[in-house]
Formats: sequence, C-alpha cells, structure tokens
Amino acid sequence: MQWDSLQLSEGALDAFSYVLRNNPATKADICRCMGKGISTVNRYMTELCEKGLVLESGVADSSGGRKPVLYSINSQSYLICCVNISTIYCEVAVVDMALHVLKIDSISIGAKDTPDEIIARIGQAYRNQLAFLGADENRFLGMGVSVFGAIKNEQGVLYKPIIQYMNEQWDGYPILQRLQEEIPLTLYAEKGINAAAMLEYNHGKARDSSNIIYVLCAMNIRSAVIQNGHITGNSPFFEDAFGHMVINYDGPLCQCGQYGCLNCYAAIPAVLEGFSKEVKRGHSTMIGGDVDHVTIQQVCAAARANDIPAVNAITDKAHMLGIALANYINIICPDKVILAGLMVKESELYYDTAVKTARARLGFTGNQDVTFQRLGSFSNSLTVGAGAMLLEKLIHGRPPVQHS
Ligand SMILES: [Zn+2]
Repeated sequence: MQWDSLQLSEGALDAFSYVLRNNPATKADICRCMGKGISTVNRYMTELCEKGLVLESGVADSSGGRKPVLYSINSQSYLICCVNISTIYCEVAVVDMALHVLKIDSISIGAKDTPDEIIARIGQAYRNQLAFLGADENRFLGMGVSVFGAIKNEQGVLYKPIIQYMNEQWDGYPILQRLQEEIPLTLYAEKGINAAAMLEYNHGKARDSSNIIYVLCAMNIRSAVIQNGHITGNSPFFEDAFGHMVINYDGPLCQCGQYGCLNCYAAIPAVLEGFSKEVKRGHSTMIGGDVDHVTIQQVCAAARANDIPAVNAITDKAHMLGIALANYINIICPDKVILAGLMVKESELYYDTAVKTARARLGFTGNQDVTFQRLGSFSNSLTVGAGAMLLEKLIHGRPPVQHS
C-alpha cells in the first residue's frame, strides 16, 4: 500500500499524528490539541476511519454527561517492516500501526558473513514472516531501517563507523539499494540510536519531555539528543561519539585509535575486564571457571548476590559513566536522561551508581531538575524505532514532532 494513495487531508494527517502518540484519544483531546471545532474534527475522524487508520474503540470515563468516544489506531489495517543492522546481529520485524511487534527474528552477523549474505537472510526472514502471519505484501506501508553508523549519501552507502562492522565489506556498501532489491517497499533509513531515542520521545517514557539525552550502554556507549522534537547534537557520521570521548589521555588504546575513550572505562568489555582484574587481585568470586571467559549476565547476577569482585567492577565502571554523563548533561541541559541497553538492563547497580555519580556533579550548573529513567518502554527499540521513524516520515515528510 502506497501511503500517498490514501490521499489524506492535512487536517486528517495532524489528527492521525495525535492519535498515534496518544493512543487512545478522545475527540475532545483532539479538538483541544488541534485548536479546531468539533464539526471539523468529526470530518477528520470520519476520513481516518473510512481509510482504515483509526477506529472507535469505546468510551472514556466521564464525571457527568455523555461519555466521550475514544479513537484508537486500527492495528488490524496496515503493517510496517522494520530492520535493524548492528555490529554483530540484525533484527527483522513486522509491526502493526500501533507499533506492536507481530513477529521478530534475530540474525547473527559473523566475521565471515558478507553484506550480500546478510541482506539475503534479511529478505528470507521477511518472506518467512509474511508466510507465518498470512500477511499480504500490499498491507505494508514501507520498511524502516536502522543501522549502526550512518548512511553516507543519497545512494545509501554505509559510512564506516568508528567500531567497524566485523566484515570490512560493510564499509561503503550500498545497503539501501540492496535492501530494496530484496524487500521492495518504500524505505527510510536512520541511525539506530536516533530511531530508538525518537521512539521513546514520541511513544515511550519521554513523551512528557522536551529535551532528552538517550544513552545505550552495551558493547559500546551510543547516544542521541532530541531537543524540541529535533534530533540534534550528534555527529552526522557517528553515533558512538560520546563513547569515544577521551576521558583520560593516558588511558588504554581504544578500537578507534585514540587513548582513554569512555568506552574503555564504562562499556561491557570494560566491566568484564574489571571483574577479571578484581579476581586476579585476590578477591574470591562465586562465578566458577576461567575469569577471562565469563559473561556480563554472570557478572551482573553475581553482583546482585553481593559478590565482591562483581560489585566492585560494576560500581567502578558505572562511576566513570556517571562522571561523563554529568559533563554531557551540563552542556545539553536535558529534562530527562534515559539510560538503556544490555548493561543497564542487566544491572540496577550499574544504573544506580551512574545516576548517583552524575547527580552529585550537577549542582554547580543548576541542572538538578533533570530526571533519569532506567530503560525505555520498548524491548527492541533499535528495530521498532526504525518503523516509528518511517511512519513519521510518511506523515510529515520528515521525522520531527512537537509535543502538544
Ligand atoms: Zn575510542
């Protein structure tokens, strides 16, 4: 289904955009937000219902008088294909218009896997999902794609990220062209961290915020800034620039070639290395086996059981993140900071320590009002975010959205 063939009026598009973000919404809310009268909004809602985008889903509670009708996104109508390509895995998902995941598959990316092979597997996963869901391709509005790194130009060539994809053929690979050959849908691509941040901003835990910093802490530290609905403050080419901020010029060599980047002190490899050092220094641990081959899940579980080397490694690395975060917050002045990613998901201690450290350093710039949030609302934010960005692109011709 081509979005343009729906031929929605400007007013209906605005009303749809509101319901998408405030699902379900009352007609009175829509009138208030749009500054339009009831008869005008009735016309918009009739148009949206006829075109299958929203439906009347019940009535809201009322303190008196007639109960207001609720409008919801019609999740049974159209579908979106979402693709996220990260460094060592990719995900393919089908989501409905309310961004519910109907089917998702993960594909690991090894050093020997060429981009052509991975794109072919993505295409196969998509076709399998169509068969599994019994879905017709005509129901798809398009494909949202998020990548670790950046799309360099109109031809959709992948720009070399600081942390390279494991196979060097990814550098300069015409990713969008190849994806569209495999999955012939309208396509919109975005940096993964931007997609995840915008998803939270429009549909998740930052819906009540104007300015946010979104940080993903996993194998590396990635970040995005959204100010008044616009993605700002990050490099056009890199999404892990915060992770490659040098915090100790005398520190260890980072994969990017610099010395002492934040990644070397606060990302998952640093936590694992810190744990190993603690044990080798003489602290006993409940984790058996080779200390150089433990998983982050093992270390985080041990820390929850007060295992000393695990607790020490996590608090030490989270402390470094907290210091860097305070600097970031003092420059950007967000009203909300969301910390997400595998490290934050696995360890409340890591999150709490980072936030406590950052908070202690915000006083002198008067940024104490900032709130922190552990994890977002979506478990596959990089992937679902790609679909949300496509939807925004279709509605507005551009992704930004001002909060009402
Ligand atoms: Zn670096």
